[in-house]
Amino acid sequence: MKKTLLLLALVAAPALAGEGKWTPQQVLELDPAWLKAQGLKVTPQRLWDPKRGTGLLAGTVNVGGCSGSFISSTGLIITNHHCAFSIIQEHSSPQRDLITQGYLATSRETELPGKGARVQVPRSFKDVTKEMLAAVPAGADDLTRYKAIERKQKELVAECEKRPATRCQVATFDGGVQYVLVDAVELADARLVYAPPRAVGEYGGEEDNWMWPRHTGDFAIIRAYTAPDGSSAPYSEKNVPYKAEFFFPLATQGVKPGDFVMVLGYPGVTFRTMLAEEMAERQSRFYPRVVDVVGESIRILEEEGAKDPAGKIAVASTVKSLHNWHKNSEGQLAGIKRGRIIEKQREAEQAVVSWAEKKPQYAEALRARSELLSRIQDYGKTWEREFLLGSLRATARSVTMAVHLSRLSRERAKPDMEREPAYMEREHPRIKDQLEREQKNLFLPAEKRLLQAFVRRAQALGPEERIAAVDKHFGAKATDKELATKVDALYAGTKLLTLSERMAMFSETEAQLQARKDPLLAFGLDLAIEVAALDDLKDSRDGASKRLRPEWRKAVMAHAGKPVAPDANGTLRVTFAKVQGYSPRDGIFHTPQTTLTGMLEKNRNAEPFNVPEKLSSTVQAKRFGAWVDPGLKDVPVDFLADADTTGGNSGSPTVNGKGELVGVNFDRVWENVANDFGYNPDVARNVSVDVRYVLWMLDQVEDADALLRELGVRKGPPVARENR
Ligand code: ASP
Repeated sequence: MKKTLLLLALVAAPALAGEGKWTPQQVLELDPAWLKAQGLKVTPQRLWDPKRGTGLLAGTVNVGGCSGSFISSTGLIITNHHCAFSIIQEHSSPQRDLITQGYLATSRETELPGKGARVQVPRSFKDVTKEMLAAVPAGADDLTRYKAIERKQKELVAECEKRPATRCQVATFDGGVQYVLVDAVELADARLVYAPPRAVGEYGGEEDNWMWPRHTGDFAIIRAYTAPDGSSAPYSEKNVPYKAEFFFPLATQGVKPGDFVMVLGYPGVTFRTMLAEEMAERQSRFYPRVVDVVGESIRILEEEGAKDPAGKIAVASTVKSLHNWHKNSEGQLAGIKRGRIIEKQREAEQAVVSWAEKKPQYAEALRARSELLSRIQDYGKTWEREFLLGSLRATARSVTMAVHLSRLSRERAKPDMEREPAYMEREHPRIKDQLEREQKNLFLPAEKRLLQAFVRRAQALGPEERIAAVDKHFGAKATDKELATKVDALYAGTKLLTLSERMAMFSETEAQLQARKDPLLAFGLDLAIEVAALDDLKDSRDGASKRLRPEWRKAVMAHAGKPVAPDANGTLRVTFAKVQGYSPRDGIFHTPQTTLTGMLEKNRNAEPFNVPEKLSSTVQAKRFGAWVDPGLKDVPVDFLADADTTGGNSGSPTVNGKGELVGVNFDRVWENVANDFGYNPDVARNVSVDVRYVLWMLDQVEDADALLRELGVRKGPPVARENR
């Protein structure tokens, strides 16, 4: 009996402590003794109770693709500065530049609403694998398989969203081994309460992005509101703060090296279930091309933004996200190489192959792997064209909008359930918000040059890869002057950049859009045909992948003989970690905490290291308040842990074993960017803002006493660590 128990416990313990973005359900399947030994002080059920949809995970919210967490029962949410950036930008102008100055609401009335800002609070996760698989007709070809799965997803989502203010999705795990219906409450009114100045929220800017040591105060506080009866409602003066049942109290004593922490949140995508050869394609083609194309867009935006202060504000958000994408891609390339990730994946795959070869029940898995491998070559022929059409977000926003509106008008002509998911009725409020919000990102000179760059690249494609819409509207070849003249004419004749006209286009039919004879729309209408055709091709490939990959993954999981955390897919996860430093290369060790003094040492009084006067004078006067770390004798700014995070984990609560907030996750270190392809315990480090930096800012710099009181923080003399 004892023996069996021991075996079970072993089976339920993951391979590496830090590795794994565990689903709420998996947390309950992990060995509780192992979790306790890691440092978890509450029961796993306190993290998540699937029957009631309650627990600390219920306090972890999705904020428009970022993560966030409730930190008060009165709807206060902490997330990253870069996640709240669009609200800050929305309320900024050259006359009232909140981006530069930061913002503190002095009363509820002065909290700033965010257009289209939404907060999703998790409610339940239901395994729907059986229903999903049963929906695929026997003998279905790949596109039919894809469409059948998509149809079933839509039906389950429609059923789930019958309740008001509900947002659902069917998430795919391990390429289709499992499907889960994720159900969340969506709050439609979120307002900015506090944002530090940009020089704090983005301290170090692009230079320090993905780097350590780091001194960035990448946090902001927003508040979710509901109608007076507690139901979700769009912005209204009558709305009241959301009553959060689960929230994370702030751990005013912070963390120290060696402490156990958990990072909860919504990691976006990772690629660990890819075959080694699929990863090799990312390395040889995809990331180098991103670096190239996105790099060019950044140069254009920065050059144009530098010519005009309003233009600079307009392009700020785009530049920021493109920079992040660009540097991330460089980091993927460096990390894949340095970490020998592809070689390691090849070895791991080979081990599974050798093991499976001896087991007849895995013959299908081996066959599936071979077919996946053979399909990689098929994608090669029109790769550049696919890349260009698939990366429109790297080009002019107005072109993306023209394509979007064109597709919307065509999809709208179909019954809702037949439409591409992105154009179904449930997405319309989001599309509308997006079209409206885009206004602040538009800067005509930059739009023109970005479109020229796109056309140039398309014109350079080989004869097999022509983009017909480009050839038709701009010619297969053009001198720089001819192209500039055409692009000027196109923008002179378009109404798409005028907000009211664009909003009118939102509800128009294809015929109405055509009748406008708007040159940018005309280009969009043609380009959209090619983008849609490409999507069909991708759907068919995805159908093949859904047929093959689960077979292979089942063999991989059986071979592991331990719980395997699935790749990130935007759903709620937990990762268990320890606060610790790391060695980026031979002879160097990075300690895991940084301090205010270190922040000042980096100060250059110029971007991106430009400490605002109100901070520097407070640090110089050593006004640290109650937030000094006894070991550091300074206020900690950021810290490292070995949590398994990725993009989307931005704003994730980093909490201690008791479930108290010790930090806000915002980044990974450079050596760890490629963990999307494989976890390496030596360099897997995520970066969080220390909660004591947040508290110091609110207390000593901003005098935000009312906010601190609301957060349940009593200011007082520092407490000795032993007495905590
Ligand atoms: N900075 C990332 C984000 O924006 C977090 C990460 O990639 O680690 O979500």
